[in-house]
Amino acid sequence: MGTELQIAVAKVVSTNPATGEILRQLKCAGEEDVRAAVARARAAQAAWSAIGVRHRIAVLREFQRRLLQRKSEIAQAITREAGKPLAEALTTEVLVVLDAARFLIDNAYRLLRDEPLPHGSLATKLKSGMLVRDPYGVVAIISPWNYPFSIPATETLAALVAGNAVVLKPSEFTPLVALELQSLLQQAGVPKELFQVVVGDGATGSALLHSPIDKLVFTGSVATGKRIAAAAADRLLPVVLELGGKDPMLVLDDADLDVASSAAVWGAFVNAGQTCLSVERCYVHRNRYENFLRACVEKTKKLRVGNGLDQDTDVGPMIHERQLRIVEAHVEEAVARGARLLAGGSRLPDLGKNFYQPTVLADVTHEMRIMREETFGPVLPVMAFDNDDEAVRLANDSEYGLAASIWTRDRARGEHLARRIHAGTVMVNDVVSCFGISEAPHGGVKASGIGRTHGRFGLEEMVRLKYLDTDLTPGMKKVWWYGYGASFARQMAGFMDFQFARSWRERLRGAMRSASLSRSKKL
Ligand code: NAD
Repeated sequence: MGTELQIAVAKVVSTNPATGEILRQLKCAGEEDVRAAVARARAAQAAWSAIGVRHRIAVLREFQRRLLQRKSEIAQAITREAGKPLAEALTTEVLVVLDAARFLIDNAYRLLRDEPLPHGSLATKLKSGMLVRDPYGVVAIISPWNYPFSIPATETLAALVAGNAVVLKPSEFTPLVALELQSLLQQAGVPKELFQVVVGDGATGSALLHSPIDKLVFTGSVATGKRIAAAAADRLLPVVLELGGKDPMLVLDDADLDVASSAAVWGAFVNAGQTCLSVERCYVHRNRYENFLRACVEKTKKLRVGNGLDQDTDVGPMIHERQLRIVEAHVEEAVARGARLLAGGSRLPDLGKNFYQPTVLADVTHEMRIMREETFGPVLPVMAFDNDDEAVRLANDSEYGLAASIWTRDRARGEHLARRIHAGTVMVNDVVSCFGISEAPHGGVKASGIGRTHGRFGLEEMVRLKYLDTDLTPGMKKVWWYGYGASFARQMAGFMDFQFARSWRERLRGAMRSASLSRSKKL
């Protein structure tokens, strides 16, 4: 949102992107409101942390039960505000959160409890080591509009179960879904002050970033992510950055074309292409190229575009016209530079101002914006490659590195190539669904971000790791303390030989030389 708008607008207007209907207007939280919310959250956090992880897991179980009960209602709220088809609101949002809760209910106790850390070195055998996981305190979450429920909810559940308070700044386009999440959490037993929603645009997000939070989990564009990283560096605020993607799909010469083309069409057009893990670039072996394109075009033409609330809709509207203009510009530039337009390629004004046809482009190149910048719309751009090395080179030729997929009938070949792709996730014979695997870490490399959400590693992001060390011989001075001199140096050298020398003879000699180390005179 532009600066002038941020100053002029003190309200966010939640709008149905399919119809333009205004759903509700809400006041933007200002700097003072944000600081007050963070202070209230901080005050509530100590008791929540003290209550223990088993109690917090019980609250999550209740949240899960209530969400399951209200699944259709929540899905409707998501579709109304974000536009995606109801089926997707259920599968990619509600189901993902139900399962994230399941993962934490089953695993949080084991993953958060103190973990003994045995020592290998003889010098430290007489100490007991322990890893302790402390909550950060107040975790701020700033989230985007494209998955307005599953993104903030999965992050919030992990933060809460670890004993943190949360202040969430949802996207200005989807505040009502965040308020649904708040009401579900409160009904499940999360204290009112412990989870707060501050509604607003970028200015509210910036106020949250500059408030006394202890950690920030940000999901959004690379441009905003870079601004956030710069501000966070100034005060050494720990951040997780889940940013954009330009995910490649590699269709090898032995792939099942029927399955791969269905995957390409779904992966490119799910949520009207507004998915960080969308298939944004598709590379197909030249021997299969034309057949693959034919199958994609045939399947694309069957897609039903419309209002997501209609049960038969496959592809809904885009979130706003500004996003649609980016898509249009990428497609127009690609066609002007020689890409073949095989399906779609224009708006659908009869449906509303935010609708764009699912579009298939062939013969694209890496000189085109459509293969370099995040398009974030319903476009499947396809190009041919001649061998596996070329496919890997093309996949890695991007500033992004969120996820990728490889399509082949040969699992070993797929897994071998996957190791050569620079990305946070590589799927063999599937796309996008990694986001719904609660055990799998989600996050990117390169411009796609820093840190991870989901699963064990997402939970680890919500705690400060403390190393707790207790000496088991409190009445003894340590051999490495003062008392230096020639005999100390000789004994120490002997101790090192005893521990690390290759031959038994040298080790034995070292042991003898170091024998009196523990009795050496210390200050
Ligand atoms: P965005 O960067 O415009 O906004 C994201 C959030 O940041 C919003 O809540 C916004 O109000 C807030 N914000 C804007 N300026 C801010 C500032 N200066 N300080 C603090 N907060 C600020 O992104 P968007 O358009 O909402 O989302 C789309 C982008 O998100 C795409 O690039 C997509 O790839 C990415 N995304 C990434 C993931 C992932 O997991 N990697 C998931 C979903 C979306």
